[in-house]
Amino acid sequence: MRNLAERKELIATVREMNGLGINQGTSGNASVRVEGGYLVTPSGMAYEDLEPDDIVEMSFEGEAKGKRKPSSEWRFHQDLLNSRSDFGAIVHTHGKAAMTLACQRMDLPPFHYMIAVAGGNTIRCADYATFGTQELSDNALKAIEGRKACLLANHGLLAGGESLARALSLAVEVETLCDTFWRILQIGDPILLSDAEMDAVKEQFKKGYGMPKGNE
Ligand code: 13P
Ligand code: ZN
Repeated sequence: MRNLAERKELIATVREMNGLGINQGTSGNASVRVEGGYLVTPSGMAYEDLEPDDIVEMSFEGEAKGKRKPSSEWRFHQDLLNSRSDFGAIVHTHGKAAMTLACQRMDLPPFHYMIAVAGGNTIRCADYATFGTQELSDNALKAIEGRKACLLANHGLLAGGESLARALSLAVEVETLCDTFWRILQIGDPILLSDAEMDAVKEQFKKGYGMPKGNE
């Protein structure tokens, strides 16, 4: 079977999304770039039951190969992988905190320095569109511009990364930020970092946070 290792990693990733509590049931989906296209999870299948040949191989023209239907959200996976060379993988989740803020159609302001891990001073919420539509993909691409993550109005969270591990780790961070922001809103007005403070954070990240020694 082609891309067996990537298929297994994709299955492990969606199982981990549920295991970590940032998604549940058959909600959410994930994709990973491979030679000539990308692999995406099948639509509506329990992650526990997934076998490598349930994973759908897609071309960048939207042709599906395999015995299952691709995720209903293959369009945003395809459009993101196509238009963002910095993304090798995409993770989409329906976490409780992300959904809470997405249902209020809130952008996340710079209330915590880790907002910058998604690439900017805010994490935007994309305009609402029906799940599985080209309109949702278009709205998501706009909201994630210059960022690696965004919320989807009345829906959930989208995160991209160089690898599945990176995309998943960003989804966990953003879910946690959403949970924290929701808590802050219970007790008062958030105290926001200034542009200068956020610029300093981005400089610190550029110095090589998390990089192996020597790459600093
Ligand atoms: P799929 O099971 O078709 O991937 O749909 C889940 C989902 O999250 C739709 O937005
Ligand atoms: Zn969804």
